[in-house]
Amino acid sequence: MTVVMHFINGAQVANSSNRTGKVFNPALGQVIREVALAETKDAKAAIQAAQDAFPSWRDTSLTKRQQIMFNFREILNASKEELAAIVTQEHGKTLPDALGEVTRGLEVVEYATAMASHLKGSYSESVSTSIDVYSIKQPLGVVGIISPFNFPAMVPMWFFPIAIAAGNTVVLKPSEKNPSAAIWMAEKLKEAGLPDGVFNVLQGDKVAVDELLTNKVVQAISFVGSTPIAKYVYETGTAHGKRVQALGGAKNHMLVLPDADLDLVADSAINAGFGSAGERCMAISVVVAVEPIADELVAKIQSRMATLKVGDGTRNCDMGPLVTKEHRDKVASYIEIAIADKATVVVDGRGITVDGDANGFWLGPTLIDNVPTSSRVYKDEIFGPVLAVVRVSSYEEGLELINNGAYGNGTAIFTNDGGAARRFQNEVEVGMIGINVPIPVPVAYYSFGGFKSSLFGDTKAHGAQGVHFFTREKTITSRWLDPSHGGINLGFPQN
Ligand code: NAD
Repeated sequence: MTVVMHFINGAQVANSSNRTGKVFNPALGQVIREVALAETKDAKAAIQAAQDAFPSWRDTSLTKRQQIMFNFREILNASKEELAAIVTQEHGKTLPDALGEVTRGLEVVEYATAMASHLKGSYSESVSTSIDVYSIKQPLGVVGIISPFNFPAMVPMWFFPIAIAAGNTVVLKPSEKNPSAAIWMAEKLKEAGLPDGVFNVLQGDKVAVDELLTNKVVQAISFVGSTPIAKYVYETGTAHGKRVQALGGAKNHMLVLPDADLDLVADSAINAGFGSAGERCMAISVVVAVEPIADELVAKIQSRMATLKVGDGTRNCDMGPLVTKEHRDKVASYIEIAIADKATVVVDGRGITVDGDANGFWLGPTLIDNVPTSSRVYKDEIFGPVLAVVRVSSYEEGLELINNGAYGNGTAIFTNDGGAARRFQNEVEVGMIGINVPIPVPVAYYSFGGFKSSLFGDTKAHGAQGVHFFTREKTITSRWLDPSHGGINLGFPQN
């Protein structure tokens, strides 16, 4: 069985021990390869390679850095189906969905091709007599990126194009569940002309993460994953003097006002609830229906669910399997919890007919109505194709529910009332808001991130905040003396 290796200093490198993890094809329910699980020694080697590459990469001209990013953009764009196929094989999402993920990553690469513009500083002439002040943005050094299983291509691309184009060197630790996409991207960056050591991939688990969090050479950490690990990463990384942005889990609500177009709402709830089998941090997992529309809306969602095809992502299906058997079983267990909590299971996704191998990790789309807000079905991040419906009597009640939640990643309001939507965007305590848009993932030139338990640290991913995260600013006060100027003055200059 092949073992997916590290990529250090421009080449694939074997692990120092024979510790490995299993990589599944979730649609077949089979182990298709293994992945190296780094020891501390391997993590140190990856960090060392990035450290060695930093001085000359930092001093490489912006023009050259942009050109390499542009070359990578061209290679990626020409071969994106290849990367999408790798994502589908190890994650399970359908090929069109995987291609969508790659395309969203590509947009960040395109944003990074304009790094010269993003890095422009400012200049103020004659702030005092003969004194000018200006600022420059410089790279940090070695940065670590730790990514989750659900977007093996896009989430790394939220960070590394900006980090690299800004002059940093990178160690990426992808999810051990789907490690191959990172190696594919490393090979393509090399082909694009990126010098060895600027982008390294470290395969592994907590051992690798802990070295990145504590090693003095690493200046910053971008993490995406579940909330408990995000909190751990933030606390450990900052305690070791690092700049950390740690994006965590989510529980996203869709607030539906009675005046909304219910056909648009039902289509949107299906797309946002069951796309990628609900394994998206921006998935809608709770529909909050403001009465009296709940019965009509639930019927519309239910009838659409009957048309969804579940199966192997390489076939013509709407939804693939879940990522592992354990995760599928955990997600399915929420249907029992719903029954115990006296919610109404409208559609039960267990035991559905699929267009795929019987051993795949299947669970069909599930709809649960009248979910009590005390139930774990409402409170937990389930991260699967389980859509809950909560009925409320007013906009205010719905808003209060959303604002009382532990997470604040994404939310959406569906209404034809512009004033209500405007009030919602002002009052809701959530980082990314859709107005008649169910999955409001910001484009690359805006920044991605939520509030509360969905983001630890104050800086979001990509866009201007991404550039800010991967650079530090120097402010320079400069005086070139006019030959006629001089004399002693112990006070601050007054003019
Ligand atoms: P996860 O937290 O299990 O893993 C994320 C990363 O942390 C992986 O690289 C993993 O190897 C590492 N890790 C796991 N356990 C660790 C430990 N004990 N110590 C140190 N590192 C550890 O998350 P996942 O299951 O891969 O991904 C799904 C989660 O990611 C969901 O909660 C989802 O909401 C979240 N997510 C959030 C966003 C966002 O933008 N907020 C985006 C995508 C995914």
